[in-house]
Amino acid sequence: MAGLLPRDDSRLLSISPGRARFETPAAALTAGASGLILVRMAAAPPIAADFQLMAKPMGPRCNLACVYCFYRGKEALYPDERHWKMRPAVLEAYVRQYLACLHRAPEVTFAWQGGEPTLAGLDFYKRAVALQRAGAPPGRRIGNSLQTNGILLDDAWCRFLRDENFLVGLSLDGPPELHDPYRVFPDGRPTAARVLDALARLRRHGVEFNVLCSVHRLNAARPREVYEFLREHGVKFMQFIPIVVPAEGAPGAATPESVTPELWGGFLCEIFDVWVRRDVGAVFVQAFDMTLAAWTGRVPPLCVMNETCGRALILEHNGDVYSCDHFATPDHRLGNILQRPLAEIVNSPRQAAFARDKRDRRPASCRACRYDFACRGECPKNRLAPPPGEDQPRSWLCSGYFRFFEHSAPFMGQMAEALARGLPAAVVMRQFGNG
Ligand code: SF4
Ligand code: SF4
Repeated sequence: MAGLLPRDDSRLLSISPGRARFETPAAALTAGASGLILVRMAAAPPIAADFQLMAKPMGPRCNLACVYCFYRGKEALYPDERHWKMRPAVLEAYVRQYLACLHRAPEVTFAWQGGEPTLAGLDFYKRAVALQRAGAPPGRRIGNSLQTNGILLDDAWCRFLRDENFLVGLSLDGPPELHDPYRVFPDGRPTAARVLDALARLRRHGVEFNVLCSVHRLNAARPREVYEFLREHGVKFMQFIPIVVPAEGAPGAATPESVTPELWGGFLCEIFDVWVRRDVGAVFVQAFDMTLAAWTGRVPPLCVMNETCGRALILEHNGDVYSCDHFATPDHRLGNILQRPLAEIVNSPRQAAFARDKRDRRPASCRACRYDFACRGECPKNRLAPPPGEDQPRSWLCSGYFRFFEHSAPFMGQMAEALARGLPAAVVMRQFGNG
């Protein structure tokens, strides 16, 4: 993730609901334990921060056992750990060093994820917020985002989240019959009813929230239902994250629950067709806004659509920092903030090399692709196998993305042109819309 959207980007803001805006690439993004991304919506100027550190206060520990989760297995990184909860010394070092690193940013966002971060308990976050207040210089705005499965969100949590202005990312994969097959308690019980309770509670308390919808083999086949269900539940900010899990022992293949390229392309196209005719300016769909940002010549504030990445690192419960949520492996452990300054870790040559790899290890067919300006070869973790005759792996989702870029191109062109003329992107609905 690189670059900073210019201050005059207000035209772009009109794509989305009134208070929506793009922050800096790094600060806008929170890659969660399911590869999910949180985007903060606020009416403030852009942030000068150029990296994001996403903290896992309970490490990989979770109260659910989602079938497609890639992070629960990370307990193996710490075979002797019995405690898991981030200790006060790590929390204090995180807050202090993060504020120091981002000393030029008018706003600093602390991102909490897991595993399941609410398992750390409300008092942990009260302490975190108190440390932030005590450590922040006068005038500095502090934000917090929390990526959660919603199971523990009772009224006390919601009151706290509202009072402290947290942005919540709630994981919900659509209607119960599409959410429940994969998002389950460890004993296999379904979770949708509990998540929908949490959604209603968040709304009741006026907590700002996004829904992060993992797209897998089941819900990808029913895009319209997923979109309308979320919309009917008052969700204005949607982030659709493709589930791609490499199959063990079958190089280049993905697991049965992963979304196929065909389904992914169809999913995006079908939702786009509804959105572009009815909901531009009323519903925020991250993939669409990021694509439009690329069409306007901006750097989309989403790492997967940037030429290089490496500015969204993760902080494990014990202070270890890894290159990215998707690369929490011993090879990508960069250091520990109790032993090495965070600034040094973030700007280390190893992390710079990780960042460049996204661009430099793209296959030649991506460089030649007419949608490279928007796709950039997508996320390296989804590059499962090289195309015929090439040596670098290409995204498993390539044909799906290509189909979506091709399908949306005429509309994107119209919206980009409208924005360039100082008009809102929503004018596209006059030409293509239903009304
Ligand atoms: S590997 Fe790069 S593009 Fe993929 S999620 Fe990590 S930072 Fe983003
Ligand atoms: S659509 Fe496919 S070929 Fe084009 S840039 Fe993306 S991954 Fe590469």
